[in-house]
Amino acid sequence: MRLDKFLADCGQGSRKDIKKMITNGLVTLDGAVCKSAQTAVDENSDVALCGKKIVYEKFIYLMMNKPQGYISATEDTRKKTVLDLLGDEYKYFSLFPAGRLDIDTEGFLLLTNDGNFAHNILSPKKHVDKTYFAKIDGQITDEHIKMFADGIVLDDGYKTLPSRLKILKSDENSSEIEITVREGKFHQIKRMFDAVGTHVAYLKRIAMGGLYLDESLGKGEVKKLTKEETEKIT
Ligand code: URA
Repeated sequence: MRLDKFLADCGQGSRKDIKKMITNGLVTLDGAVCKSAQTAVDENSDVALCGKKIVYEKFIYLMMNKPQGYISATEDTRKKTVLDLLGDEYKYFSLFPAGRLDIDTEGFLLLTNDGNFAHNILSPKKHVDKTYFAKIDGQITDEHIKMFADGIVLDDGYKTLPSRLKILKSDENSSEIEITVREGKFHQIKRMFDAVGTHVAYLKRIAMGGLYLDESLGKGEVKKLTKEETEKIT
């Protein structure tokens, strides 16, 4: 690949800025200044920008603790998107959310620039588990655990796959639960609880597959995932 592509893949700036940095002599290859953007390099080349070694990394995977008030999209004319929460260091990576959380849902959202990985974890055939914590208006009982395990018929007639419901707290007016589903229908959790005459008052995704939200992440913060962590999702 070309030197400017190497640096662009690594999120070091726009193609135009990178070309300028190269012609201004800010980039070295094997320790010597290289002023030609076309120079051929590979993933293992010794490239440095302003004296800082750039390790080639084409794909990145971020765990975000999504706050309420942001939509899971890359751009919108009126609403704030989850990309607005990212710092400048992630600006040039062409990241997008792999999956959606509603504007009022919080918790684990995966951002990546790896289309194949996103496709894989979102594929209905893959059945990646998604676990949510929810506060429910209404009493959730052991009867609901059985109903959710059998599958719930939603408002459009679709019967959900079996899901695991765990009651954390429950009285006649309100409950706190954890639920694990293996699919991602539109507003699925809210519609499942509506279908049994209750209402989701608060929703937070706490895990994807076997990877749990890092609770030390503040709302809107992200952390870069290691390869081992991304493998826990699938
Ligand atoms: N189910 C919902 O109803 N909303 C979400 O944001 C995610 C799952």
